[in-house]
Amino acid sequence: MLNLQNVDHYEVNDIDVKRTLNTEVLVIGAGNAGMMAAAAAAEKQAQVTVIEKEDSINLLRLGLGGVGTNAQKRAGLTINKYDLVEYLASFAQHNVDEGLIYHWANHSAEAVNWVEDNILKPHGAHLRSEPDAMVTSSAYTGFPTENDPTIDDKTFASYGQWFQEKVESMGVNLRFKTALIKLLTINGQVSGAIVKDLSNGEYIQINASKGVILCTGGYSANKQLLKEWNPLALKKNVYNDSPRSNGAGITSALNIGAIKDEEPAECIFDRGLVPIGTKTDDMYVQTATYKDWLWLGSHPLLKLNMRGQRFANESVPYQFIVNAASKQPGYLYAMIWDDNFDEYAKQFHMVGCARVGFPGYMASAEKLREDTQQYVDKGLVVKADTIEELAQHLQLPVANVKASVKRNNELVNDNIDKDFGKEAYRLTSVNKKPYYGCILGGRILCTFDGLRINKQMEVMDNQYHAIPHLYAAGNDSGGFFFGSYPDRVPGLAASHAQTFGRLAGQQAAQN
Ligand SMILES: Cc1cc2nc3c(=O)[nH]c(=O)nc-3n(C[C@H](O)[C@H](O)[C@H](O)COP(=O)(O)OP(=O)(O)OC[C@H]3O[C@@H](n4cnc5c(N)ncnc54)[C@H](O)[C@@H]3O)c2cc1C
Repeated sequence: MLNLQNVDHYEVNDIDVKRTLNTEVLVIGAGNAGMMAAAAAAEKQAQVTVIEKEDSINLLRLGLGGVGTNAQKRAGLTINKYDLVEYLASFAQHNVDEGLIYHWANHSAEAVNWVEDNILKPHGAHLRSEPDAMVTSSAYTGFPTENDPTIDDKTFASYGQWFQEKVESMGVNLRFKTALIKLLTINGQVSGAIVKDLSNGEYIQINASKGVILCTGGYSANKQLLKEWNPLALKKNVYNDSPRSNGAGITSALNIGAIKDEEPAECIFDRGLVPIGTKTDDMYVQTATYKDWLWLGSHPLLKLNMRGQRFANESVPYQFIVNAASKQPGYLYAMIWDDNFDEYAKQFHMVGCARVGFPGYMASAEKLREDTQQYVDKGLVVKADTIEELAQHLQLPVANVKASVKRNNELVNDNIDKDFGKEAYRLTSVNKKPYYGCILGGRILCTFDGLRINKQMEVMDNQYHAIPHLYAAGNDSGGFFFGSYPDRVPGLAASHAQTFGRLAGQQAAQN
């Protein structure tokens, strides 16, 4: 039996409340959902307090999805909303509340446009839509949903500081180093929360007359909860890139009778460099700084299991190669490539942050080479003049690796992948030395299974009735994703958080 009260690492027994504060709307967590919730509630004239356990707001994400945004209209881009929603529901095998996905599609442009008009434009920035999301095969349709904040259309504009200044100018009380401990109720209605001031250890009771909005970002930092709700995630992943998200929002609501998704959902990136010889069970590194993150990992280069055999089409949504590796011995996989990789990068037409050139993070193929070289220097990417030597460095069976490389080069010559169906334009040889190789595992970006909410963003109890005055948004809220992240709808995660945060803030302010 899981002890939900202790999962957030803070003691809840013998709480000695030192002070009481009053607000109308209490937002828990200053990330993508929480900052939008705060702004929206303040815009509706509510008195708003945000508590955040760290000493800064979380990164407000740069790739923002949306349907029918002003940036898309300026680019002459139309997205068929019905096709998009059906794609998302079918990607989840309909293990979702499809009405919520429509709700996102109907309101995402309002949220994205609000950010552009109120946060970016006053600072000379704007959103640029990314119209050429790829459609590589009938199995993987892409939707060009991403909007990217920029000033010069060549680089990203980071807007977190501007956002913080905006909400503070709207009168929002932003309290850092303050963590949610537990929710309070009066006659079944949420009345506020006990929080802890982490700078002095004092407990504070915050009464919230209009409601509490949970926006703590899921639970990927909490190994105990992962074991309970998504044990495979601990095998698939060797890094967690959301170290702030320890499940406090979800568990606090479960403790007062809320329900959550019964199946896990997660976003995993295929860029986790693993020191050679490490086993996945021994590695779960929590990092907020992209530690040992190989951008090239998302490119559809030759990938082999730990026996040196090819095991999947490498040209798939980025999480899928990690899923495929979880059906192979050891859960990890090797990537092998040759010295032409910067040329291959140009032919692959990657999108989103894997793209070379804006809005990717590698400005050019030369930058990608530099990025890769730092890991050669660090010993996480190995280099050799022969495939035998490379396989030995990677501790892989030499004969199998040689056979896999030979077969790969035959398929490239034939211009058809008879083994796994990779598109011909993404088939690349391994025949120009030096050869490169590394061992990769997954990086969990966030969990998505969360509290069940209705269209008012109210958290529901086991009778599917709203728990009065309790709202959830972002990765604390569920019903929207199942299994893996649909990366062909770029910017969906941040947009889901920001759009639902905005709707939750508006709803709570109306009480
Ligand atoms: C490296 C990386 C890159 C990404 N890039 C993109 C992208 O380009 N586009 C996209 O769509 N998605 C992206 N995502 C996913 C996206 O960031 C998340 O889906 C989104 O941030 C979720 O928003 P949220 O508000 O639920 O959580 P967050 O933005 O993570 O915010 C949660 C906040 O709650 C705080 N908190 C936690 N517990 C407590 C507590 N007990 N008390 C008080 N505060 C608490 C945390 O400190 C944090 O500040 C990326 C994720 C990562 C990790």
